[in-house]
Amino acid sequence: MNDEDGQYFYHPLENIEDVEIFYEAVERQHLTKSISRERPYTYWTIELYDQKNGIRGGGGLGVLAADTRRVAEDTGVPFALITPFYPSETHQKMKDGRVIDEHRPVHYQDFGFKLIDKVNVKCCDDLCQLEVVEKQFKNTRIIAITEPNFGELYSGMSGSDHRLYQEVALGFGGYAALKLLGLKPAIMQLNEVATFFAALARLDELARNGMDFYEAVVYTRKHTLYTNHTLVQAAEADFNYEQFERFVFPNLKSLAVKKWLKDKFVDGHIKLSSVTIEIAELRSGVSKLHARVANYRDIAGNKVKFKAVTNGIDMRTWVLPQVVDFYEESGILDMYLSPTENYKDKLDVITADKIREFKHLGRQELNKVLKTRPDHHGNILSFSDDDFIFDFKRRFVDYKRPELPFEDVERLRNILERRNAHYILAGRVHSGDEVMSGKLRKLLKTVEKDDYLREHVHYIPDYDEELAYGLSCGSNVAINVPIVGLEACGTSWMKDVANLNLLISTHDGGVADGSINSYLNVSGTDESEELDMLYQRMEEAIAAYDNDFDLEFLLKRQLETFLPVISGTRMLQDYLDYLFPS
Ligand SMILES: *Cc1c(COP(=O)(O)O)cnc(C)c1O
Repeated sequence: MNDEDGQYFYHPLENIEDVEIFYEAVERQHLTKSISRERPYTYWTIELYDQKNGIRGGGGLGVLAADTRRVAEDTGVPFALITPFYPSETHQKMKDGRVIDEHRPVHYQDFGFKLIDKVNVKCCDDLCQLEVVEKQFKNTRIIAITEPNFGELYSGMSGSDHRLYQEVALGFGGYAALKLLGLKPAIMQLNEVATFFAALARLDELARNGMDFYEAVVYTRKHTLYTNHTLVQAAEADFNYEQFERFVFPNLKSLAVKKWLKDKFVDGHIKLSSVTIEIAELRSGVSKLHARVANYRDIAGNKVKFKAVTNGIDMRTWVLPQVVDFYEESGILDMYLSPTENYKDKLDVITADKIREFKHLGRQELNKVLKTRPDHHGNILSFSDDDFIFDFKRRFVDYKRPELPFEDVERLRNILERRNAHYILAGRVHSGDEVMSGKLRKLLKTVEKDDYLREHVHYIPDYDEELAYGLSCGSNVAINVPIVGLEACGTSWMKDVANLNLLISTHDGGVADGSINSYLNVSGTDESEELDMLYQRMEEAIAAYDNDFDLEFLLKRQLETFLPVISGTRMLQDYLDYLFPS
């Protein structure tokens, strides 16, 4: 083969039977050897949550992308993350009891990105010029695609022209950017289907450079991993043929690829998940439970299997530095922040005194964060070591049930009042989500009517990484109560467990990787049973902080079960093992 990417090919495929022979040939290769600086692990994501580098995301998908790159950096894996740089970002603040959006411009130059060059994508009979900007780290880099009118993350409806434009720009523009930088992807990990066009760009390149079309498909499939975060395919917005005529087909040079893609339309519509499944032979879900229950079918109607690779977090980003150092010095985590072989025995060093010492430090961090983050009344909060704090911090979406603990206001007040405890809520309402902004307003009204709750329940607007960090290390108990079956993984709770907070949770997402006895579980046959159990768990959590033995026992038990789950290093290792089996 003459193509640079075709180094694994030695005979062109004449017919479909040859595909098997070809597969075997590819399987015999040690792909691991081909990861290098010039041939990095490439990670494609429409959302990155990395404010330090100027890119603000919307939630867990973006946090995961940022953490994956950081873990790759810490473990020396050559890694390129390709994402848009959105020239504007949304913030939220409270006005007259309502959450309102505010838009702020962002400049990549302010965050250490350098302009490399421009690339073009075709859209609507025009050439769109995209800037390729790059920021290099030791062994990783962020390659971003941008232009002044790129718009904001998730602006417009899913399925809209603008979303399609953004996705096409990332895929085709990002692939051209790799070429520009002299990089060839060892693997393409697609963080959800919005990045499908990157794999399509690769297929097109291989096919138009003379590779037999079937070879090109097989090659692309072998080297593409589709990571799914969603449970139901039916919920996905689709695009129509006419949109593809304007934004996608003009960017394809291979007639065979164009034909292949055109054949994938059903009644003039296409779901990106169905074509992503076609183009990616490797597929993963983000927790054990999610990989099992995600309900996806390929075009032939067969159920799609997902390999479970549970999300992890970058410990250095999310855990109080003193706690990370303590884990390392005590032999609980190794130098790569992965649990050691005998970490379970080592957990014995965690005493109630140690926990109080870390809570004290964590509380100072939280107070520091809160200094610039007034609550919904406009008050600046500050907490002493003796204050007891429950928190609920996550996007305000229906299935996460932020309002659940407020269903029985009397009982909530009684629980909080006995310990003079506070309840902090933080989470963004998705722009335009009238249902959830209504629920938030109602919740705050309920709180307003009660003399005790008014002083002890606080909503902090504009939830972001900083708040997530402050609350993870500074509160006492985290509440996570998604409707069972709807959370793909969730990573907020991981930040809590690692920072020695008690976790009250339903058995869902990544939490269900552990046993039901490893944290303060909430379950029941209906919502009122769940609610009752939630209140019981809140009482238990308060009691545990007054009993050294219980506190040590519960926190150690959480770590025993979940340290391997939440380790980002474990996650990256799982991906590498899946992608490059030895
Ligand atoms: C950790 C984090 C998330 C992840 O939220 P989950 O609901 O647990 O998936 C979302 N947003 C921010 C700002 C975070 O820091």
